[in-house]
Amino acid sequence: MLDIVVTGGLAVLPSGPQLADIGIQGETIAAIGAPGSLAALGPGRVVDAAGQIVIPGGIDPHVHCNWPMPVPDGEAKLTEPASRVSQAALFGGTTTTIDFAPVEGGMTVQQAIEHRQQQWAGQCYGDYAFHTMLLGKLSPEIYGQVAEAVQAGHPSVKIFTTDITPSRKGRMVQFGDIWEVLKVLAKAGGIAAIHAEDNDLVMHMYEKLMREQRTGFENMAEVHTTLSEDLSFNRVIRLASNVEGAALYMMHTSAATGVRAIAAARANGVPIYGETLHQYLMYNSEDYKKPNGQIYHTYPSLKFPEDQAALWEATNHGAIQTVATDEICCPLRIKLQGRRIDDTTGGNAGVQPRVSLIYTETVEKRGYGLNHFVELVSTNAAKIMGLYPRKGALAVGSDADIVLLDTRQRHIVRAADMHEADYSPWEGRDLAAWPSLTMLRGKVMVENGALKGALTDGKFLPRKVPDEIRARPAV
Ligand SMILES: [Zn+2]
Repeated sequence: MLDIVVTGGLAVLPSGPQLADIGIQGETIAAIGAPGSLAALGPGRVVDAAGQIVIPGGIDPHVHCNWPMPVPDGEAKLTEPASRVSQAALFGGTTTTIDFAPVEGGMTVQQAIEHRQQQWAGQCYGDYAFHTMLLGKLSPEIYGQVAEAVQAGHPSVKIFTTDITPSRKGRMVQFGDIWEVLKVLAKAGGIAAIHAEDNDLVMHMYEKLMREQRTGFENMAEVHTTLSEDLSFNRVIRLASNVEGAALYMMHTSAATGVRAIAAARANGVPIYGETLHQYLMYNSEDYKKPNGQIYHTYPSLKFPEDQAALWEATNHGAIQTVATDEICCPLRIKLQGRRIDDTTGGNAGVQPRVSLIYTETVEKRGYGLNHFVELVSTNAAKIMGLYPRKGALAVGSDADIVLLDTRQRHIVRAADMHEADYSPWEGRDLAAWPSLTMLRGKVMVENGALKGALTDGKFLPRKVPDEIRARPAV
């Protein structure tokens, strides 16, 4: 007997969208059948999805919770915890988020992961995982720990090629150390998640603009340049191409130069994948000049209209496989505290509207197929990050993470109606869809705007990246 049947909706199955019933038993999808065919199996509950689109839960592969935020002339404050971000995510149809476990303060990789596990345990509505984050000068014993972490279900490792701003020294990993990490990951079965900018160019531009007293954040694209993305992406790719089995996931690709670098590498068979952020697709450096222009910023920086065009084109089965948020959830007051190129905080609020926003921009405005949209917000992240087919698919045996997207009426984004921050960079956006129901492993978590889930419902997800993903550009 089935516990729940979602009936009559347009289900976006791996084979394509079709009207179908989805039967759920316990935490997983147990059956998929023709419309009306599963109700006879005596389900505990029937969810009427007629007129709605049924998709696998969204996956945001790039969020930051409980994250120290450098505040000008003050102590670093922590951003909102997983409890808040995961709730907002579920309301927006995202059931899985991947955060970071920074290895710092003399911790081992294992201690860093354990530390984050403790912060999340019983404090997250949705399912979650962590990218291990390596920072600064790496000590030799870290490589063995990384290999061990990959085996234990943490296959992705975040690395910065830059300190980002002069005040954040200690993030950049030296190139030789990156080389060693790539070798370890190639052998152990991992994937490197790279924040790639050319540190020399970035720091040169900080010095230059400070000398010229052009320190307002609206100049950010002059500091975090398209040329920097060009040099750094290509340098990392060249390094990885010389390590047999090294796979790359380029985080928050922001420029046409980055797109071109990824595309060229993929054409040569390098296992490399591109992530962009919805900010980079939807805003450019002119938006810094709007009132409270910091709310559109995240590092590296917003770029130019031609970069947006290249990024959009790359989402059409090109160099970009995932659209993430780089979520940093904090009040507007904090987001606006920095006003300079060197102290404006990165990250953004957006995990809640992401799925509906990308639906609107891809399916409605650009005519993408439903599968294509689902790939960008869920399936591709699941595949690249080693969660597929448990996550990212409406398929028998997959977790019953199911979202009903209601396209029968439009939805205007209002921060006040959401569960995220007291502002939204997406305020006033007119969206073609909004989730009416979000289910996590067979449990209805959000229904018609009401939270039904508990903080204990979210579970840690051990991951394993398939060989196919690490061998060639497989998605
Ligand atoms: Zn980030």
